[in-house]
Amino acid sequence: MAKTNSKSESKPKPKSESELTWRDLNVGCIVADPGNAAAYRTGDWRSQRPTYEPSRCIKCGMCQLYCPEGCIEKDEQGNYVANLYYCKGCGICAAECWTRAISMVEEKE
Ligand code: SF4
Ligand code: SF4
Repeated sequence: MAKTNSKSESKPKPKSESELTWRDLNVGCIVADPGNAAAYRTGDWRSQRPTYEPSRCIKCGMCQLYCPEGCIEKDEQGNYVANLYYCKGCGICAAECWTRAISMVEEKE
């Protein structure tokens, strides 16, 4: 039986620049894997974090409605708080909170 070289069989030879066509380009600017947002730790992008003053909160839920990450949840006391694993620090919740219960502070961690 002839001896095979598994290395040369498994790896296709890379194309030269003149052999490449548009079909060899990686797909870009689209979501190729819908529903994968939960896998990304968008909290890593944050330079500011939302802080809450519960006495000013009227529990209207507007911050939760406007949060582009959908990461504002209610805690055990019924207060709205951001899940910092996903909060990217955009400040939209603070801008939409008309009682000014949310303030953005610089991220220290
Ligand atoms: S928008 Fe402000 S007042 Fe309304 S639930 Fe959120 S923190 Fe509370
Ligand atoms: S700062 Fe932006 S991402 Fe974070 S909780 Fe507020 S609206 Fe959501």
